[in-house]
Amino acid sequence: MTVDGAGSIPARRQGMPAAAGDPTGPFLRITEIFHSIQGESTWAGMPCTFVRLTGCPLRCIWCDTAYAFHGGERMTLAEIVERVKALGTSLVEVTGGEPLAHTNAFPLVTMLLDAGFTVLVETSGAFDVAPLDPRAHKIMDLKCPGSGESHRNLWSNLDHLGPTDELKFVVKDRGDYEWMRGVISERKLGERVAEGSLRALLVSPVWDEVDLEELARWILEDKLPVRFQMQIHKLIWGPTRPGV
Ligand code: SF4
Repeated sequence: MTVDGAGSIPARRQGMPAAAGDPTGPFLRITEIFHSIQGESTWAGMPCTFVRLTGCPLRCIWCDTAYAFHGGERMTLAEIVERVKALGTSLVEVTGGEPLAHTNAFPLVTMLLDAGFTVLVETSGAFDVAPLDPRAHKIMDLKCPGSGESHRNLWSNLDHLGPTDELKFVVKDRGDYEWMRGVISERKLGERVAEGSLRALLVSPVWDEVDLEELARWILEDKLPVRFQMQIHKLIWGPTRPGV
């Protein structure tokens, strides 16, 4: 399913360069473009520009970006790249919503990479990541049962994650934790990190839902090869503020 205005034009053709002022070029709907401190992943703490696309076909129970489901500003890909350049960070994250629900997200990522940016793509894991430019760093969720969307996990995506990509589990409760532990074991994900075919396994607690000390204890008791992460931007600016 795609939710942008791309129709059936192949993604690579849509990525053909267009002048920033050309309103007929390929476009996306954008909720916000801003720069902030990267709050998650192994890139946490670094200044980063965020390109938040509008729209997501999923409805995770604990979603913290529901304001990106609708609305947004229509921008051509060239305009987006120009806006990102103006903010002046070398690190850019394309996020949402679900960016990969939009056909034109793929050529946007390539255009940002061609412009010299380091590009992270944050995705739910429900859409095929294979067509993404291999220079992009994928930060991909596997949705735990507590999200209400674990049936959307596209398991074949695990075959398309490489040494610069990261896999994230957002954990709501003990049930989610045990599900994650099972997946890590069955899919030999710890071994993949150890051998370098996957960069990291990230564990994020759902904000204000999980006792952090308990989650830390579970991880330590099981010696799970994961990286416990907090959302730094929420610690700095609070949990509900958009644009940070
Ligand atoms: S995939 Fe992301 S944006 Fe979509 S509902 Fe889930 S958390 Fe929200």
